[in-house]
Amino acid sequence: MIVVLLGPPGAGKGTQGSLAAASQGWIHLSTGDLLREEVARETPLGREARTYMDRGDLVPDALMVDMVARRLREIPQDQVLLLDGFPRTLAQAEALEKAIGGGAVALALYFHAPETVLTARLMGRGRSDDSREVVERRLAVYRETTEPLVAWYRDRGLLREIDADRPVSAIQEEMIEIVRNMLAAQT
Ligand code: AMP
Repeated sequence: MIVVLLGPPGAGKGTQGSLAAASQGWIHLSTGDLLREEVARETPLGREARTYMDRGDLVPDALMVDMVARRLREIPQDQVLLLDGFPRTLAQAEALEKAIGGGAVALALYFHAPETVLTARLMGRGRSDDSREVVERRLAVYRETTEPLVAWYRDRGLLREIDADRPVSAIQEEMIEIVRNMLAAQT
């Protein structure tokens, strides 16, 4: 069962995804983490992706879809997969449906918080793409390119909204409950 973690940079998708995976035995797959690994290992993909990441731009769809499709093939279908940071464009959402078949995304959890909160969190994080200029670019790219996915998943009846401007533990509890309920409904 695939659960898409949707929301702007700084909303806490990564934190929430890795906590839930650790406590529930689910799989957390972060495309940002995968890319940072490729960058660190200086693979051809990493070298290409880096130029986009450093600017706060999205890595081209073709590279992303390829990388994610390869990973998805390794993950058993009966596992709960928290997909963090993918899809980020409509083309990626469509490619995901094609790769796994329509209906395989059971839920899209939309983590939202005011932009002032997001900026403050991102600036306090100290990642190499967390300088003010790049943070602003990433938020703008999110609004223009990724935010339309909120309506896309809502139209399909898959969207659940989570107020991400709360303590980590409160968000975690709600997230786990939503996913567990969906799991129970499916079996
Ligand atoms: P994240 O850790 O999710 O904030 O991702 C960090 C950076 O990796 C982003 O700013 C993008 O440059 C790149 N990235 C991660 N996921 C994707 C994706 N699905 N499509 C395009 N670029 C991505």
